Formats: sequence, C-alpha cells, structure tokens
Amino acid sequence: MGNDYKQTMNLPQTEFPMRASLSTREPEWLDFWNRIDVYKKSLETRASGEVFILHDGPPYANGHIHMGTGYNKVLKDLIVKYKSMRGYYAPYVPGWDCHGQPIEHQVEKKLGPEKMARISQAKLRELCRDWAMEFVDVQREEFKRLGVRGDWDDPYLTLKHSYEAGDVKVFAAMYERGEIYKGRKPIHWCKRCHTALAEAEIEYSDEQSDSIYVKFRVTDETAFSSAGLPVSLLIWTTTPWTLPANVAVTLAADADYVGIVVNGEVIVFAEALVEAVSEIAGWESAALVTGAGGEPVRVKGRDLAGVHYAQPIHEGVNGVVITGEHVELSTGTGAVHTAPGHGEDDYLVGMKHGLPMPMPVDDNGVFDQGGGPFAGLSVDDANPVIIEWLREKGSLLAAGKISHSYPHCWRCKQPVIFRATDQWFVSMDATHLRDAAMREINRIEWIPGWSVNRMAGMVGDRPDWCISRQRAWGVPIPVFECVKCGETVATPETFAAVEELFATEGADAWFTKSPSEYLPVGTACPRCGGTEVAPETDILDVWFESGVSHTSVLETRPELKRPATMYLEGSDQHRGWFQSSLLTSVGAYDEAPFDKVLTHGFIVDGDGRKMSKSLGNVMSPIDVVAKSGADIVRLWVASADYSQDINVSDEILDRTSEAYRRIRNTFRFLLSNLFDFDPAVDRVAWADMPELDRFALAQLADLLDRVTTSYEEWRFHQVYRGIYDYVGELSSVYLDVLKDRLYADAPESVSRRSAQTVLADILGVLVRILAPVLTFTTEEVWHFMPEAMRDAESVQLTGWPEIDVPGEEGAALRQAYAAVLEAREVVTKALEDARNEKVIGKSQEASVVLSVPADARAALEPRAGAQLAELFIVADVALVDGEQFSAQVSVADGKKCPRCWNIRTLGTDASHPEVCGRCADVLGSLRE
Ligand SMILES: [Zn+2]
Ligand SMILES: [Zn+2]
Ligand SMILES: [Zn+2]
Repeated sequence: MGNDYKQTMNLPQTEFPMRASLSTREPEWLDFWNRIDVYKKSLETRASGEVFILHDGPPYANGHIHMGTGYNKVLKDLIVKYKSMRGYYAPYVPGWDCHGQPIEHQVEKKLGPEKMARISQAKLRELCRDWAMEFVDVQREEFKRLGVRGDWDDPYLTLKHSYEAGDVKVFAAMYERGEIYKGRKPIHWCKRCHTALAEAEIEYSDEQSDSIYVKFRVTDETAFSSAGLPVSLLIWTTTPWTLPANVAVTLAADADYVGIVVNGEVIVFAEALVEAVSEIAGWESAALVTGAGGEPVRVKGRDLAGVHYAQPIHEGVNGVVITGEHVELSTGTGAVHTAPGHGEDDYLVGMKHGLPMPMPVDDNGVFDQGGGPFAGLSVDDANPVIIEWLREKGSLLAAGKISHSYPHCWRCKQPVIFRATDQWFVSMDATHLRDAAMREINRIEWIPGWSVNRMAGMVGDRPDWCISRQRAWGVPIPVFECVKCGETVATPETFAAVEELFATEGADAWFTKSPSEYLPVGTACPRCGGTEVAPETDILDVWFESGVSHTSVLETRPELKRPATMYLEGSDQHRGWFQSSLLTSVGAYDEAPFDKVLTHGFIVDGDGRKMSKSLGNVMSPIDVVAKSGADIVRLWVASADYSQDINVSDEILDRTSEAYRRIRNTFRFLLSNLFDFDPAVDRVAWADMPELDRFALAQLADLLDRVTTSYEEWRFHQVYRGIYDYVGELSSVYLDVLKDRLYADAPESVSRRSAQTVLADILGVLVRILAPVLTFTTEEVWHFMPEAMRDAESVQLTGWPEIDVPGEEGAALRQAYAAVLEAREVVTKALEDARNEKVIGKSQEASVVLSVPADARAALEPRAGAQLAELFIVADVALVDGEQFSAQVSVADGKKCPRCWNIRTLGTDASHPEVCGRCADVLGSLRE
C-alpha cells in the first residue's frame, strides 16, 4: 500500500556511499589536496592570523615509520589543522634527523669489513647520505598517506648545508660564552662501535660479572698495626680490569672501620659489613684487632684518610685513602676501589682530591703499557687473567659471579665500558647553564602538567653533556688544533669561516679541504703562534645537531620563528630532543626554544606490552592503512589518552572502525535529508522552530562548546568521546524522531524545513569539528554537502563553526529535556518489551500511559499530547501521577494511515478519506 504514496514522500537521497572504502578512496583526496596545494592555501588564507608554530621533532631517517612515529605525526597534524581552522597561521615544516651512527652502521654492514677498510671518509659519507635520503623519501610518502599536511616538498634535513651552518653558529655562541670545554672524562664507551655514547644511547640489561674481594696492603702505620701483623684494606669490585687504573680507596668519612685478624694478617673494612664479608670469605669466627684494654679498635673513615697502600697491580706504586659521599655500607666492604678514569663517581671524587687519572685502555678496549702485566689484553680477556694473578699474589680474598643491571650500547647491544678520553663537553655549571635551564623549565608550559617534574629532575641531575663522537657520519666539532703544541684554535674568525664553508659547501668540505683554503690568512695558535692547524676529527653528538633546529630551522625559514609555540614528542624526548633543544637554546640565547611542550606516552599492545619483534606484536601503521584506511588510524590517535601509554591492537582498531561507521552513517543520514534544502532560502528562524528542534540546537551548541574546550586543552580523547556519545544519542533519539516529519510532511512545510535547518547545522558543525581528525572522510562529506553550505574549496580551508543559540533559553530547554529524555528511555524500554510480547508491532501503534513523579511534572505536562507522542514515536501519550517513571503500553485506537503508518483517525478530510489529516493536507498541497 505504502508504495502508492512513495512518490509523495520525501525519502532520503544521497550519493554519499555507505561503505567507506577508505583504502581506495583516500588516495584520491591526497591527489585533490595536492592539486589545489592545500598546504600553501592553508597559510595564505590565514596570513594575517596569529602565529602558531608546532615545530616538528625530526624522526630518524632509517627504516619505515612505525606506530609510534605514525601516532606522533598524526597528533601533530590534528593540532595544526585545528589551529589553522581557528584562524591561526600554522605552518608545519616536517624534518628528518639524517646523521648519526645507526645509518653509518647500516652502511658499514652493507659494505662489509673489507670494503670498509679501503673506503675514504668522503665516499663513506656519500653512501650514508644516499641511505638517509632513501628513507626520507620512504617515510615522507608514508606520513603523507596518513593525511598529514605540511611542507613535504621542502622539509628540513639535518644534512642540508644551511642546517649544518646552524650547528656551527650555536656551537660558536656556546663556545664563546665558555660553556663548551675539552676535558678528559670517563664516558660510556663502546669498544665495538669505537665511540663515546651519550646517556640516551645507553640501555640497561642484566649482565653476569665477576665479583671479587681484593686486599690492598697498607704501607703506613695505622691503629691496626698494633698486632704486629701485616694490614690490608679490603675492597670489592665487579670490574677486575679497572684495577690497573686504581689510584685510591674511598671510605665513608663517618663510618667505623675495624680490623679482622685472620690467617696471620689484619683485614680492614667497614664494621657494618663484618657479618656479610665473613660469610663470603668463609670465616668461622671473626676476631677483631683490639686495643690495650681488650676493646675492639674502631677508626672513623676520615681518620684513615691519607694512609697509603701498595697499588695492587703496579709494583712500587702507592695509592692513597680518601673519603667520599658515594660510599655505600649496604654491599661490598665500605672501602671503594677508585679509578677516576673508569667511573663517574670516581672521576668526581678524584677531581676533588686532585688525583691522577691513568687510562691504560685504548679505543679497542685493549690495555696499553699502563696495563702492566696485562698489556696487550682486551679488558674482557683480562678479567680472568687478573683474578688468577691476584690469587697467586695472595691478594684475592674471594671471587664469584653476580648478575646485575649493566649499561649496554644501544646499537650493538654489547656491554659498554667506562673509559676516560679527550672529549668535548657542554658544562652544566661553569656558566650556570643548569640554573638558566631550570629557570626556563619552570617558566614554560608542560602538557601534561606533571611532565615538568620529569624534565626538571633530568636536567637537575645530569652531568656535563659530552657532545663529541668518534664517528664519520655527522657534523664535525668546528674547532682546530695547533699542530705544533696541541692548543685548541677557535676564534670568532675561525667560526665565521667554518659557518660560511658549511653554508656553501656543507660539512663534507671539512673532510676534503685543507684549513688554509678557508680559514682567514693569519690564523695562528694563541699559545705558540704556530700557523699550521689541523681540523678536529670528532663529530657532534646527533642530539646536539637535532637540538639546534631552533636555529637551523626556526630562525632561517621566513614562515617560522624562534621560540616555537609548541614542541610535541614522546616522553622519551625529555631525555633526548627536548633536552638538547633546551640546553643549546638556553646556552646560546638564554631562552627556551619553545613556549609549550606536549609529551605523549609510548605505544604498547593491547596488554600494555612494548612492541617488539621477539614478542611478535609489532603493528605497522601502513598495514592498518592498507586494510582499514588512514582515517581509522587517525580516529585511534584521537581516541587515545596520551598522558599514559597508548594501547593499540587489532581489537582496539576494530572498535575504532565500529565507531567510525557510526559517525559515517550519521553523516550519510544528514546528507541524505538535505537533498532539496537550500540554506539561503529554506532556513527557519529559531523563533519559528518547534521546541524539539530548538532543543536539538541547544544540544549541538553544548557539544560544540565542550569539544572546543577539549581541543583548547589538548584533550583529544575527550573530543573523540564527546562526539562519539553525541552521535550515538543523536541517532537513537533526535534523528529517529525526525524521520516522520522529514519524510511525510509537505516538502516545503515549516516543520520539515525546520528539521532540515537543524540537520544542516549539525552537519556543518560535525564536519568541521571532525575535520582535524577524520581528514579524509570530512573532505568527502564536504564535497557531498549542498553547495551553499560550503564556504571553501576544502574543509581544511574553512573556519571553526559557530552556533547561535540564545543562551538562557537553550539552557532552560536542556534542563527541561533532561527529564523528558529520562522518561523517553523508560518508554522505549516498555515499547521494546511490548514488541517482544507481540502486543504491538511498530512503536507507532502504541498508546502509552506514563506515570510521572512529582519533580518531573513541570517538565512533562506542558509537553503532553502530540509533542511527547512525536518524541516517543507513539500514537498517543497520557500522563498519570506516579512515584517514578513507568510506562503502560497498549494498542492504540484508530487505524494505520497507509501513507505515514501512524495510527490516526482517518478520513477527516473528504478529498483524501483514506489517509490521516496531516497526510491529506500534504497530498492536497502537492496537487496544487
Ligand atoms: Zn656498540
Ligand atoms: Zn700552538
Ligand atoms: Zn498519515
């Protein structure tokens, strides 16, 4: 029957596809954006806007992108697009970190040791450059495919000439302020990779080490000498190979030290550890050295300071007892073997006491002549040999193994050693860089707020920053050495010449040209006047390089500025890029390079485990794109709470796809009911709208408010949650109710046009507030929207939406409808039950008696009758008093109108006796 009336109904029409087919459709939008140059236009249209600069932290140009880098870039894109829609001038210049050891390592592996031995440094650098550029291209395409908008044609690369010149500029500024010095210092050293390693390049994992207790024979008289027996200090170490570099034994100043008499000798160590050591040594009973009255002799550590002992390896050499604050009394002996060339604490205490710093281990981890009897052995091979040697000498008290956490090289995964070498350092304290950095940390904004503590803790604690590396693929430390006397030659003139050289020819020229070709005539050694200088062979730590992007990028590109508005990276960058950027910027300019820093958690799998090949839980964003589309990745990014670790799994992405479908279906419903709507002529004013429509607009305005606030507060998971919940309620309530009016009322009736006005507003808001997230889908929706609703050629170029709802009235409506919607839920449930019990078929056939509690009457009673019947989608509603909401459902009197399927009194209009009054009116108007 209904078919007869079909052409008299306003059934939905749209070409907007139900199926998203994102993986095939998205590339077409990429082409579109490319064609219109949407990035350039996004800047042109906002040329006079306030500036918002999100400065990209450069990913490493090696390998494909992973979930973490994909997440990071999409999050940035979301912010940039949001700000751009808010009217900000928001350029986004992506960058890549192109130098560094991992690339060099890959090229080395590819070449093999034979070719590596023959290759020139210039050729090696060329191969490294090719490698980096290959992966810049790979990653660029992958990031673009995720819908990330930016200056992809002209990204910043740390290997570009202009970038390398910036390295020199910042280095020179810091050097001239006295912040950079050359020093000998124990550093993490990988003997396999032949390089110093920064703290950020260290990974800790368990390692089996030797654990030995060694007696150092005391050569001075002490309080323990009274027994007339030989006296030794007992030390404990897990690195026997550092004994040749021993120069001191450090005691705790305030601790008591006692002497144990055993096997005809006296062994001295901390009283607090007598029990533990006795057990390890296997002593049955420990007899203490006693004084004249029989009381044990106790000597404070500070009173033993200055006592000498025979160096355990080198004959005829003495060591000295000192005190220090790093001595622990929980393990070992309370007497710490001290080799300033092989440990951070040892180095610091050695500096304080003016101790020598012997360093008998070369770059390969092999002892030179300073290793005494062990010269020529590698430190690993030397360990058992030294232990045996000590045993033979009678110096070894006990030897075993322990398993403990030990630093490893991040690249080759081998244990590293601590080894003093000549290195370049940024001093944290000589010129108060630490204090200045702390001041800036406290000044700028950290998101989430607690991350300030993490950053302050790291900068507050960190030692001087070792910025030199003994590698080939990077930017050289831009100083020279006098060939005659070894003095460093670095002046404003030499720095300027090098900056100019790098700017025009790149850092490669350092390795191919002689300094006389580019240094000013008359450059001479400040100490001996020698004019022959050699370029430094060490290169800069890559963290220094990426850190100076505030100068090499923000300062040199006209569309950018320093400081940037925001840096945004994973929380590991508190230790890495955030810190190197901060220290180089404060070091050179006294100010932070950013106003805000946003950090996000790590990507983990559904069970919270780190992704790793061995666990088999690694996901690739590119695989997800191929299977489900980039918008699914982007919706997942928005939905995650980045203040914690971010979960991703197939199941999570399936849920994301489900949410996506809900949003897409809503868009489709909205579009399909606007096919005959021209906002320019068909809009209905607020005052002429049915109350329900005004309520819907008030809800929309509330959504827009909340979502905008969430965007402003960088809480994107709340943006997502807000929209998701809104769309859910919209479909199940408002849109469902509206179908009757949209389909069955006269096409140009105020009631239908009013509904369409609201739908158009909802569409206009949703498409915009989702545009930063669902960048592809909103563009697709945009192109299906009525022409008059589009104020830009791309949704990316439109502005943030506005909704004009009289505030007080809107709030009153929302309050009243809270009770109405509560009642609706009760009614909907009762209708469902009645349907299941076959009392009714469609809800339109139902007659409802609703019990209303006293406090809800004021909201319900004025809306009784047709208004509630429409809202509940039933034939009629009667209200009765009750304790709480409850609903009785029965079959309504009257007949089903064959056109609109509502139960009505039919035949009220003689010209169309078969249909209801409303439908008769509509049919009459259509015939006119
Ligand atoms: Zn290594
Ligand atoms: Zn000189
Ligand atoms: Zn009807």
